[in-house]
Amino acid sequence: MDYVRRQQGIEERLSEKRLKALLIVHPPNVRYLTGFTGSAGALLLFAGGKRKPVFFTDGRYREQAAKEVARARVVVGKQAVLAEAAAYVARQKIGAVAVEAEHLSVADHVRLRQMAKGVRIQSAGGIVEAARMIKDEQELALLQAAVALGDRLLDVALKAIRPGVREIEVAAELEYAARKAGAEGMSFETIVAAGERSALPHGQASAARIPTKGFVVLDFGVILSGYCSDMTRTVHVGRCSSSARHMYKAVWRAQEAAVAKVNDGAACGDVDFAARSLLKSERLDGYFTHSTGHGVGLEIHEPPRIARNQKEPLRAGMAITVEPGVYIPRQGGVRIEDMVVVTAAGHRVLTSAPKELMEL
Ligand code: ZN
Ligand code: ZN
Repeated sequence: MDYVRRQQGIEERLSEKRLKALLIVHPPNVRYLTGFTGSAGALLLFAGGKRKPVFFTDGRYREQAAKEVARARVVVGKQAVLAEAAAYVARQKIGAVAVEAEHLSVADHVRLRQMAKGVRIQSAGGIVEAARMIKDEQELALLQAAVALGDRLLDVALKAIRPGVREIEVAAELEYAARKAGAEGMSFETIVAAGERSALPHGQASAARIPTKGFVVLDFGVILSGYCSDMTRTVHVGRCSSSARHMYKAVWRAQEAAVAKVNDGAACGDVDFAARSLLKSERLDGYFTHSTGHGVGLEIHEPPRIARNQKEPLRAGMAITVEPGVYIPRQGGVRIEDMVVVTAAGHRVLTSAPKELMEL
């Protein structure tokens, strides 16, 4: 990973925004800029690279930081990372420092003010998040590898699905196979939602048993080399009724219509609109109760948001999910989700699992 180039990119942004320095504390942002994978680390970057970056950690991470952190001078402190950074900023008479307001608690902010006496604390907004939206080739390769593992794990889950089996057992099989295949963890709590529970958009696997008839929504992802995958497939146990089939086909068509809108320069809201319009033509839009997708990378949910009226343009290198769904209370739900990369020529779908309706 080209951490030096990433740090320099942020240093340039600081100059443009007339900020002197930025203290980065959000672990995925720290990892993105330095390669550090530990939980206690903060990076101080200076506008225009006027000073060498400083990385703060504590004694537990002395060796790991020495091994992992790119470019920055490493300071191993005796107190909490934020306190150490604040003391440093005050000592060096840096004058003003911007912080990631979104990732600091009110308590942290108060402490920072007390400890960094004479230093103006400014709010920086999502400078690092904005940079992270555009993935480089190495990141795209890691995302593709995570997605490919997800595709293989779907087969494991499908083999476990039978009437009478608990949702949680299906999740267990899937997660065990994920670990065996090298996943560091799951991107989020695995969703296995069967029968009436498939109408819950966030139906985490429960002790409920899979009924003899109905949809089963499987939504899961793995973390591989730090990068998250995210996919959803919906299958049907037993014979599908004609109304259930209609519902499935509508969601599938909505998902494909939305994917077709993914292009360099298209607004995120256009992708969402495509899914919603298709469902509207099938009188199902009232049951589509969430947004169409989200960015994905080091975190499972990151910018951009693929939602109603979002003006943010898609740009080549963004990795997003496209996941419309329809949820009818007491009947069931269907969601289909792929990961898609925006390219100069349009898009590339990373997920390759089939979408034809499966009756198990
Ligand atoms: Zn998902
Ligand atoms: Zn998702």
